Amino acid sequence: MQSRSYAEIIIEISHEKIDRPFEYSVPPHLAGSIHVGDRVVVPFGRGNTPRGGYCIGLKDSTEFDPDRIKDILSVSTDIPGIEGYQIALAWWIRSHFGGTMIQALKTVIPVKKKMTAMTAKRVDRIVSDTDLETVIEECGRKHQTARLRVLKALLEEPTLPYTLVRDKLNVTTPTLRSLEDKGYIRITETEYYRNPVVHDDTETVVHELSRQQLNIITTVTNDHINGNPGKYLIHGITGSGKTEVYIGIADNMVRRGFQVIVLIPEISLTYQTLLRFYKRFGDRVSVVNSSMSAGARYDQYLRAIRGDIDVIIGPRSALFTPFERLGAIIIDEEHETSYKSENTPRYGARECAEYISESRGVSLILGSATPSVDAYYKATHGAYRLFTMEERLTGGSLPTVYVEDLREELKAGNRTIFSRRLQNLIDDRLKHHEQTMLFINRRGVAGFVSCRNCGYVCKCPHCDVSLTEHRNGRLVCHYCGYSEPKPALCPECGSAYIAGFRAGTEQIESNIREMYPHAAVLRMDADTTREKGSMETILRSFRDHEADILIGTQMIVKGHDFPLVTLVGILAADMSLGVGDYRASERTFQLLTQAAGRAGRGEIPGEVVIQTYRPEHYSIESSRQHDYISFYNEEIAYRSLALYPPVWHLLAVLMVSDDEDSGVKQSEVYKVIADRCLDEHAGENSKPRERGYTLGPAPAAIGRIRDKYRHVLYIKHSDMETLVAVKDSIEKYIREQPNRRVITFFDFDPVNAV
Ligand code: ADP
Ligand code: ZN
Ligand code: ZN
Repeated sequence: MQSRSYAEIIIEISHEKIDRPFEYSVPPHLAGSIHVGDRVVVPFGRGNTPRGGYCIGLKDSTEFDPDRIKDILSVSTDIPGIEGYQIALAWWIRSHFGGTMIQALKTVIPVKKKMTAMTAKRVDRIVSDTDLETVIEECGRKHQTARLRVLKALLEEPTLPYTLVRDKLNVTTPTLRSLEDKGYIRITETEYYRNPVVHDDTETVVHELSRQQLNIITTVTNDHINGNPGKYLIHGITGSGKTEVYIGIADNMVRRGFQVIVLIPEISLTYQTLLRFYKRFGDRVSVVNSSMSAGARYDQYLRAIRGDIDVIIGPRSALFTPFERLGAIIIDEEHETSYKSENTPRYGARECAEYISESRGVSLILGSATPSVDAYYKATHGAYRLFTMEERLTGGSLPTVYVEDLREELKAGNRTIFSRRLQNLIDDRLKHHEQTMLFINRRGVAGFVSCRNCGYVCKCPHCDVSLTEHRNGRLVCHYCGYSEPKPALCPECGSAYIAGFRAGTEQIESNIREMYPHAAVLRMDADTTREKGSMETILRSFRDHEADILIGTQMIVKGHDFPLVTLVGILAADMSLGVGDYRASERTFQLLTQAAGRAGRGEIPGEVVIQTYRPEHYSIESSRQHDYISFYNEEIAYRSLALYPPVWHLLAVLMVSDDEDSGVKQSEVYKVIADRCLDEHAGENSKPRERGYTLGPAPAAIGRIRDKYRHVLYIKHSDMETLVAVKDSIEKYIREQPNRRVITFFDFDPVNAV
């Protein structure tokens, strides 16, 4: 085939104005060597500055004047090219989540720079024993002690690691080179991959799969074989055998020559889970996570391209692993908010996975004990096939859940943060040498400092959020890091009764230590896990029963399996109810259910105490009864009534500006554009409810961060594509009338209050 003469190039600069393909011509010396997806260098702008870019299309002719089209300068061979499907995916991400094409491309290509490969050098001797002994004698006579050290070592061991020779035997490189020149030794260098998989030789336990597990695995596999790869939601309580199902599906795919991506939230990417995959797939499985070096992650990317691995496990970004024969994407704990990116483009991994599933014919398997309202809604409306797993395979029964009303505790004169029932149960566990987990979803010596006399709250002067009291006596802003000493008197009324709302992990720890001086206590939160590996250390020592009580934040409720824990206390269930966005109840239900799931994983049944000021709230009541369906029914009724996702869709347009005025002005312009767009889509006779709404503009949930003002405009519509059209028309305006004072972000169905 004759090679194409023109190429469409996306320039590697994230700016709305140049967010479109530019045409370049392929010079004769590069003919045939430029492919779609290649990274190229092109002259750009008036000064013809060399810029990186990606080729996203090739063609034979151009509508521009051929004489004025510039030549591509070179093709970069540093990094592997991207495939056509990755460009299509980037394009889809760009149009559905906003941002520029180059930002989308960079999302899809996780590692952009080539890292130097890890190499291992070794020293081999290449002469016989007798020859070597002769050389040793000669060096002895000449008192060449460094040579003597290395040659004697090589007499014992014909191959030595280079590092050992250099660092332990203290032999310099010139010395080794001269021995190499004389033909006694050879220094070789081999490239190796950073392989994060740790080998383990413990026995594999093979379960006979339950009928239900087999049914799911066979259904998914057969649909794929028959050319109907489907989308599935597995609603299965913790311990019902979902992971075993994932492994079974992956195994069938790999046997048939397909590859599999397994997404797991970073926080539950535990050694235990990984081990189960390693045992099945050995060297053919790999993992990526955020604590790995860029080089190590790059290696996994290469291994995937070269076909050296079949299964990749990792958080959100592992979705973009470049497998050529991708068979299935599995998303465990699909309800986790970490699957949604908080950076532009704010893509959702589940939505992207759906797109990949449809466009590339890949099976998509979602699993959760508490499915997101969104996924369950889709399952009940036929977009996903639903499987339910209701039994714990480990035999343990569900824990008994008590809901304790904190208002009653106060009336009864209990001024501690532990209800009487919780105190009694902790006593009981300590007596029986069983373990307790206490959970609060806050960090630090919690919360805001306020005046008990006048109600004044200490706030950050830059961010519109309350400051948090830390043990060192300072008040800290968790958004911008601003800190100030805690005032002794109220700045407003001069009262001395100014104090923190004390219910953080540190406070709980010191209360527990006072009340139970003989108990061994561990604490796990952002502060105690800052160092690498410290989280694992805490978890291990708790599992080994070196402590009776583990106190912690969110991070202790996910995925960990402690057979001796028979009591879980949730100290303030309301904290997550007070967040003030439409997903607050959903998040509370998930958190309570997960926390409760930690109790009674072993032989002995567990108990759970939920402390709350609102015992009658449905998210608390349904988690007490382990009843997802009744929670879902209440929640979906509320979402339908209030027209929230998943029933309707929501586009948040966030405007960040240096001064308040330009933010407000800009958002009013956007509102006009959005309203016009909604009208055009609705046609003439449609009812307001079908037309959709714009809300705001209003100051965002946090009105100011780092002295930048934040305004938000919400657009609601039943159809996502209409919202995409609204975003497109706002983006078009931004391209035509750039305003450097305002930066605009788009977030579809935001998971956190914007
Ligand atoms: P989930 O991922 O739903 O929490 P797992 O797959 O981790 O569930 O299974 C929970 C426990 O049950 C694990 O210890 C696992 O080894 C065990 N298990 C899984 N499948 C079976 C089975 N078919 N028979 C017996 N035990 C099983
Ligand atoms: Zn005061
Ligand atoms: Zn601040």
